[in-house]
Amino acid sequence: MASDSQERRPRLRIDIITLFPEYFAFPLKVGPVRRAIEHGTLEVNLLDLRSFADSPKEVDDYPYGGGAGMVLKPEPIVRAIESVHTPESLVILFSPQGERLNHERVKDLAGRRHLILICGRYKGVDERVRRWVDLEISIGDYVLSGGEPAALVLLDAVARWLPDSLGDKDSALTDSFETGLLDAPLYTRPPEFRGLKVPEVLRSGNHAEIRRWRRKQALLRTLLRRPDLLETQPLSEEDQRLLQEALEEFQQASGEEPRPKEEGP
Ligand code: SAH
Repeated sequence: MASDSQERRPRLRIDIITLFPEYFAFPLKVGPVRRAIEHGTLEVNLLDLRSFADSPKEVDDYPYGGGAGMVLKPEPIVRAIESVHTPESLVILFSPQGERLNHERVKDLAGRRHLILICGRYKGVDERVRRWVDLEISIGDYVLSGGEPAALVLLDAVARWLPDSLGDKDSALTDSFETGLLDAPLYTRPPEFRGLKVPEVLRSGNHAEIRRWRRKQALLRTLLRRPDLLETQPLSEEDQRLLQEALEEFQQASGEEPRPKEEGP
């Protein structure tokens, strides 16, 4: 099998259908997205929705039945989809009513060949467009004024899983969720800042101890902040021991019973 670098076409192509192509100009030049594009593992193509309309003004119209807000018309969107669609395409519509984007879905999308992203605007898109859509994605339970910020979120998260996009490819492997846990606390220089010291073990040079400390902290954080993550996978005996130790240390340090974080804002 040819490796990615030998292939002519990018590993992942993303077509973004939007009323505001210029919205994406700067983010495409930053971080993992830029690196993946430069290495040829990612290609991003912007489709200006207006250029698929009969005239530039005919992208939206009043809602049947009345009410506030405009609705994106179906013809330009479907024409835009059809202009790039292949048997490998996955068509995604951004919508607050969609499946909530998460770590598993991001990795799934990074393994695809072609994504077509549709950014809604105004009151949303004509319901009939959904016939051409494979997946609806929401980036959280709140309403944005357009799908563009959601497309940028997806693009950034997906690019991190493409070859050659991260400066240090192991970085993503220790990030939150990939290990099933939240990431451990991070420290850099100086060793003391306004009386706050970096934990001694991190400066010890003892890699086995450092690994153990990080695992322990990751377990504790996850229990305190996101206990739901621990419910899906049973902890090894070693992890259970580490967590017990971490809890005891936490109690000693704070003089209180550690309690999972309260729900709500
Ligand atoms: N009337 C719609 C909201 C439209 S908001 C409703 O109540 O369901 C306009 C556009 O912004 C949507 O078409 C969608 O593309 C995008 N959008 C809004 N909130 C979003 C979210 N949480 N996740 C992803 N896209 C969102």
